[in-house]
Amino acid sequence: MIEFRRVTKTYSTGTTALRDVSFTIENGEFVFIIGRSGAGKSTLIKLLTCEERPSTGQVLIDRFDVSKIKRRYVPYLRRNIGMVFQDFRLIHTKSVFQNVAFAMEIVGSSMKAIKRRVPIVLSIVGLRDKALVRPRMLSGGEQQRVAIARAMVNNPMLLLADEPTGNLDPTNSEAIMALLEQINRSGTTIIICTHDRDLVDRMKKRVIEIDDGNLVRDDCQGGYAQTNPACPAHQSQTERPADDLFRPEAVS
Ligand code: ADP
Repeated sequence: MIEFRRVTKTYSTGTTALRDVSFTIENGEFVFIIGRSGAGKSTLIKLLTCEERPSTGQVLIDRFDVSKIKRRYVPYLRRNIGMVFQDFRLIHTKSVFQNVAFAMEIVGSSMKAIKRRVPIVLSIVGLRDKALVRPRMLSGGEQQRVAIARAMVNNPMLLLADEPTGNLDPTNSEAIMALLEQINRSGTTIIICTHDRDLVDRMKKRVIEIDDGNLVRDDCQGGYAQTNPACPAHQSQTERPADDLFRPEAVS
């Protein structure tokens, strides 16, 4: 589903954030990207959301080369991707319900659909009784659960989380991970960037490690991916033309 093919990213400053990175992530996988601060994790996420483009190599989602996607189609790509950040990024003038509803409004959902879907998603994250509260009245763990509700409300195929537990204590971190695992069980692919090794070790999921821009490890539940038959296949797929998937139906 997601394939990095020999991706190198050098910023205009001359810093090379990723060097010749290749890996495949299948639909429905739960993967940690780990590495020290500055290793290149956020860059990897930004290449998936088209916030950055590779200097060389290709980034494929469902065999579509998103590194070549035209600017005007990028919002359609992002509709299929939910994002969760370390600092939650909630709108503090809106209630919990309105924060989650906003993600549906910007993709043009009807008020009827919003009123039906938002309470369901708030129930999943355990915050249905906080729907009318402003985010500042919530704990950090609760705010992150609102952010997760917002990320999943449009049923994305992929959920990207950049240090989602970076501002949380261990108990809340465990709860957030359990919630992400639950979302993953319903079929959403989950990619989490973190430098919290203890948490990653406890979860026993696939781990891709980046060190100074290089992919240095790809472990599937403790077994080395390339030799572990329990890991999804890492073969290359046939490429499809850019832009076909991520564009409005009205555009021919
Ligand atoms: P991580 O998320 O692992 O902390 P990043 O991907 O943010 O790492 O950064 C990798 C390297 O690229 C770092 O050296 C960082 O300073 C550099 N970098 C990140 N973003 C930019 C940018 N927009 N312009 C120039 N250099 C950047």
